[in-house]
Amino acid sequence: MSEESTYDVVIIGGGAAGLAASIYSVRAMLKTLVIERQAMGGQILYTGEVENYPGFPEPIAGPDLAMLYEKQAARFGVEFVYDTIKSLELDGPLKRVIGEEGEYTSKTVIIASGGEHNKLEVPGEEEFSGRGVSYCATCDGNFFRDQDVTVVGGGDAAMDEGLYLTRMTKSVTVVHRREELRASKILQQRAFDTPKMKFVWNSEIKEIKGGSDVKSIVLKNLKTGEVSEQETDGVFVYIGFHPINEFMIGVLDLDAAGHVLTDIQMNTSIPGVFAAGDVRAFSERQLANAVGDGVGAALAAYRYISEG
Ligand code: NAP
Repeated sequence: MSEESTYDVVIIGGGAAGLAASIYSVRAMLKTLVIERQAMGGQILYTGEVENYPGFPEPIAGPDLAMLYEKQAARFGVEFVYDTIKSLELDGPLKRVIGEEGEYTSKTVIIASGGEHNKLEVPGEEEFSGRGVSYCATCDGNFFRDQDVTVVGGGDAAMDEGLYLTRMTKSVTVVHRREELRASKILQQRAFDTPKMKFVWNSEIKEIKGGSDVKSIVLKNLKTGEVSEQETDGVFVYIGFHPINEFMIGVLDLDAAGHVLTDIQMNTSIPGVFAAGDVRAFSERQLANAVGDGVGAALAAYRYISEG
């Protein structure tokens, strides 16, 4: 007799995409498990305030929204487990998801593993991580009350989190490698209009220095080649994002940057396996898109099971 699957839908990743998928899947009467390696909520846990998500005319703190997603999923009976996925066996009708702590079998799998922040990879970054170097303004901003901090990057995340940091710090200096920001115009304007925010253009951080904590950064001007040292109390790094995909390399079709390739119904290269959110190729990497992807993947999983 063939082995029975434990779940109808196993969702890898408890961010916005995964939790949205879980709400739709469980409400379709599918036995649903969400596997998360750290904390439910994903990227919004690192977001000070979300103000572009429809339905919330006032900004909502990212961690508060994460809690609401989890609460809503739990209310409908989604199961949750904390585990780090190591490998996948996806051929055939019984899918195996293998984690450090356990093995989970399912009729379908939704991959919503998201991504994580890129690192600068410069001397001092690792050494001062947690002692002045941070990737999360919401988590660590309060340690820098009335201090001078540096934000690296010119995208939405750098502007969003830089603006958040202006509330508690004395100053926020944005170091960007070009002289034009990548961030959306509304965030750029807000950043330029905020007196506490300063900009160092065409520059890269070459080293982070300090004693027990961060004391300074070594900057290189990419136009002139000039190297200088600038005092700072903290360095917040927001230089983009890479997908979390180690467990699916060689298993699913990925794009050159390692995102999962899907069609518009979130089908991956293997039947019964779907992808949603930031891990998916061509994702807009916006919260609303992640939620939409998750819903699409859950509906596709439902169709796959019902058409069995
Ligand atoms: P991003 O848009 O890819 O921007 C990364 C920034 O870091 C760019 O300005 C880039 O410079 C710079 N950079 C990359 N590698 C670097 C390096 N090695 N050294 C120095 N600088 C480096 O990434 P993100 O800001 O994390 O945003 C990711 C996605 O999430 C985006 O799609 C964004 O729209 C979305 N997001 C949206 C919101 C919002 O809507 N409020 C908030 C946060 C994030 P170049 O410009 O020169 O390439």
